[in-house]
Amino acid sequence: MKIAILGGGESGTGAALLAKHLGHEVFLSDGGSLKENYKAELRDKGIPNEEGKHTWTSIFEADEIIKSPGIPDGLPPLAELRRLGKPVVSEIEFASRHTSATIIGITGSNGKTTTTRLTHHLLKTAGYNVAIGGNIGTSFARNIIENKYEYYVLELSSFQLDGIVTFRPHVAILLNITPDHLDRYEYKMENYVRSKFRIAMNQQADDLLITNSGDPEIQEYLKSNRLAPRMIEVPNHFDSTKKLVVAGSEYDMTGCILKGPHNFFNASCAIHAAKSIGASDEAIQTGLDTFVNDPHRLEFVAEIKGIEFINDSKATNVDSVFYALQAMEKPVIWIAGGTDKGNDYSPIEDLIRQKVKALICLGVNNSKLVDVFSPILKNIEEARSAKEAVERATIYAESGDVVLLSPACASFDLFKNYEDRGNQFKAAVLQMKK
Ligand code: ADP
Repeated sequence: MKIAILGGGESGTGAALLAKHLGHEVFLSDGGSLKENYKAELRDKGIPNEEGKHTWTSIFEADEIIKSPGIPDGLPPLAELRRLGKPVVSEIEFASRHTSATIIGITGSNGKTTTTRLTHHLLKTAGYNVAIGGNIGTSFARNIIENKYEYYVLELSSFQLDGIVTFRPHVAILLNITPDHLDRYEYKMENYVRSKFRIAMNQQADDLLITNSGDPEIQEYLKSNRLAPRMIEVPNHFDSTKKLVVAGSEYDMTGCILKGPHNFFNASCAIHAAKSIGASDEAIQTGLDTFVNDPHRLEFVAEIKGIEFINDSKATNVDSVFYALQAMEKPVIWIAGGTDKGNDYSPIEDLIRQKVKALICLGVNNSKLVDVFSPILKNIEEARSAKEAVERATIYAESGDVVLLSPACASFDLFKNYEDRGNQFKAAVLQMKK
């Protein structure tokens, strides 16, 4: 077969290597620029490629097209390819046809990475031969070349799900659905909801769908659509008890780094998935106690003189700050600010009243934050660097408080990206420890 690949990131390059390995004739085209390491791999395997353009005549010669999730479906040549009966699929679809491994697929608007990482960690701790993939780390297709894993835990975006045809996860988790990426769904929520539910469209009666019993969009869809798989509906409201009861087993969360009701929900879904595969309660408890999440997500940095410092630099919108504040059990000195994308802060005003002692604004232009919060908070300061923000925060923080960087804004005014912001914050905190 002739296969054309659109987009040469980790998933496109992985798909190209797998297709070549399977003996297909492969051409990879990237409208932007290809990373040097991917170019070298394609060269090594003799895979023709181009960057900075799409030569559609070559692409139209292909029997099947594997499209990167970042490229919108609506592109006119893609519509034309479909009209000609040429399948346009995602890397996930392509790779899944070449493995008999057990697949656990995870999607949702929020919490995908955390739940994917935790599910993978629980299974690994329980001794399963399991890999992580999808949006995280090594692409699924690249892993399939070696075919050495029996289980895959995959983080799946709606764009990846839009490109599936036969992909069938044995266990699927659909965490929640809130408006996101609507520009790719004709601004219609129902299109986005349908896209998320594609995760279950090929599931059979012996498969499992774990989902959210308290999510209005999910529940509305389930009312009018009958699904084949067995379902577990997990409540999304947990109090701050330290015990989690999942399918009759009790787990102690005191040693787990995941905090807050939203993470208890994520953990419950991951535990259900691990249990359905066969992980023991004991292994799950060990997994919960030893889990390490990605940095910059409610990441514990240090405790200095009784003051805890938490880095939640990934929180670039108000919704994320809501969950961060909800997870805080101590008085908060809140560091926020940056590039505001039209934020409406009203959903967090009550939490601010209840939990926040002071706000340190960390941005070039802090006027909006100051205007919104001065009627609510008497302590508001401004800072122009992470170091200055930490210094100002410690003026207000006492033993037993927490200093939380959870910005609600993008970072590009003062930092390279959210990682840079989080790293500078951590460095400033750790400097104080010396
Ligand atoms: P994703 O991969 O879907 O972006 P992450 O696990 O990286 O999700 O979490 C990103 C942010 O989403 C977190 O900082 C938190 O604010 C929020 N979040 C995580 N889990 C949930 C959940 N179950 N419900 C709502 N929001 C959540």
